[in-house]
Amino acid sequence: MSHDREQCNRRIGFMGGTFDPIHHGHLVAAESVYETFDLDLIVFVPAGTPVHKKRSRVSGAKHRLNLTKLATESNSHFIVSNVEVERDEPSYTIDTMKYFRDYYGIDSELYFITGVDAVVQIPEWKNSEGLFNICKFIAATRPGYPTENFFRFRDQLPSRKRRRIKMVAVPALAISSSDLRHRVRLGRSIKYLVPELVEEYIYENSLYHRDEETTDMRPPIAF
Ligand code: ATP
Ligand code: MG
Repeated sequence: MSHDREQCNRRIGFMGGTFDPIHHGHLVAAESVYETFDLDLIVFVPAGTPVHKKRSRVSGAKHRLNLTKLATESNSHFIVSNVEVERDEPSYTIDTMKYFRDYYGIDSELYFITGVDAVVQIPEWKNSEGLFNICKFIAATRPGYPTENFFRFRDQLPSRKRRRIKMVAVPALAISSSDLRHRVRLGRSIKYLVPELVEEYIYENSLYHRDEETTDMRPPIAF
């Protein structure tokens, strides 16, 4: 990891995900949160053995880590952590955030970033009570996931938790990793949906060509 102890007492955002592959939706969400909440740094944390993914075949951690590094290297306030991919056992956000709280020190403010689709699942995460004590949450808007669901979710939380979840409106990019994998498998373009270096890496390493995943994505629409 390319950060050191001097970065204590700061406001740090954490963007967790499978990043299979990372795309411009992730990057725009992270950059918007960085700016809106005046953060000092965003740490991308690719998941090791995903615990919330139904899909059994997820690309090797090494590839997902490489993709995330390539996508973020041109941004000096984005860094990538290998803390989850280095773990052998399933990775839980609570363990990761305890690690970062110890690493950055208790005076640092930690923000966990998700999309509005993922934030509503937080109560189901392992030791989510403990997680609320360690970090605040920021939910980024995402096309296809109405904000009404987010507000309904937040409104029924006890006030202490409610105050620790904010939402930020990010420029809408209707991009998902599942759609990208499907496009590659069908030989369709992923240009402008992912950074160029990510696109090149996907083709060079023949990722997603044989993805067995089924999706309900329809063929391109022409009018
Ligand atoms: P998949 O289709 O495999 O679920 P994904 O595109 O949702 O992939 P993840 O790795 O699951 O990507 O997402 C990591 C985090 O980024 C999640 O919190 C998710 O809500 C958020 N996110 C993903 N895509 C977008 C997007 N286009 N806009 C805003 N947030 C996003
Ligand atoms: Mg997802």
